[in-house]
Amino acid sequence: MSSNLTAPTNSPPRGRARNHRGADEEEDISSNPNLEPWRWPEEHWRKLVNRVRAGRRLRPAEWPGGARCAVALSFDSDHETSELRDGGKSIGRLAWGQYGNRVGVPRILKLLEKHGIKASFYVPAVTALLHPDEQRRVAAEGHEIGIHGWIHELNSALPQEAERDLMRRSADTLEQITGVRPVGLRTPSWDFSQHTLEIEKEMGLLYDSSLMSDEDCYELLLDDKPAGVVEFPVEWVRDDAVYFMMNRFQSLRPYTPPGDVFDIFRREFDAAYEEGGVFQLTMHPHIIGYRSRIWILEEIIRHAKSRKGVWFGTHAEVVEWAKQHAA
Ligand SMILES: [Zn+2]
Repeated sequence: MSSNLTAPTNSPPRGRARNHRGADEEEDISSNPNLEPWRWPEEHWRKLVNRVRAGRRLRPAEWPGGARCAVALSFDSDHETSELRDGGKSIGRLAWGQYGNRVGVPRILKLLEKHGIKASFYVPAVTALLHPDEQRRVAAEGHEIGIHGWIHELNSALPQEAERDLMRRSADTLEQITGVRPVGLRTPSWDFSQHTLEIEKEMGLLYDSSLMSDEDCYELLLDDKPAGVVEFPVEWVRDDAVYFMMNRFQSLRPYTPPGDVFDIFRREFDAAYEEGGVFQLTMHPHIIGYRSRIWILEEIIRHAKSRKGVWFGTHAEVVEWAKQHAA
């Protein structure tokens, strides 16, 4: 019986490709950046995968006060930058952004105050410059403010020097307005460049909250070495925007009823509670702030509070605790 397992002998050797005349020619990724991925040498794809990686998991045996589960709520105050970031000038879409400032944030702050909870707000520098009073109020009420880009630009579309400059200027702007230096960064649209982690490390940031390699906090590795920056992972499944986003001129419409979104979030919390982990949510004032949706947030808070041993913290507090007490 002949074996089909032997490699075919007529395929081109690794690293060689046929040119348009059918002849073999030497090609490698450094001389041809458009080399098809199936021709990539192993060294190349390993390097790509290992640029930024999850290292040690940071799950503490217990949370502050002996709690078994941590809850961390976050709000990305994109406001008008949702329109500006793509070069838009639509008055209508800018008005939708302003709703986030006029109605969304005040409604959220009122709810957090009612339940005595501190949360984290990620704010593009342009939002902070447009609404400095909002940021001062958020900080004065004890919430955390983290970096969220300059004008909600995509980090991966920036030259390295521009990315570094914008991240530093964004941190400086938030500090000038609130008087508090941010310790965490959430990249706009969770878009991460080849250089983002390197810049976070240079800036001495405590944590990043843009990646999703785990459900617990973890150490970030840069080219296989600990970067000294903790990741507090996010997930699209725990983000209000994916269920409720709407664009008049595209086929994008809300596709999940609020009750179903609550059900998804509740199940995420219940499982985190069972495991003794952390439940993290990402919301947007111009999305969750509506009368028909804000109840989701309040019901989640009530549900979490009805369980014994649930601790609410800001992202910075959760990261600090996880870093100090990882089992
Ligand atoms: Zn955002």
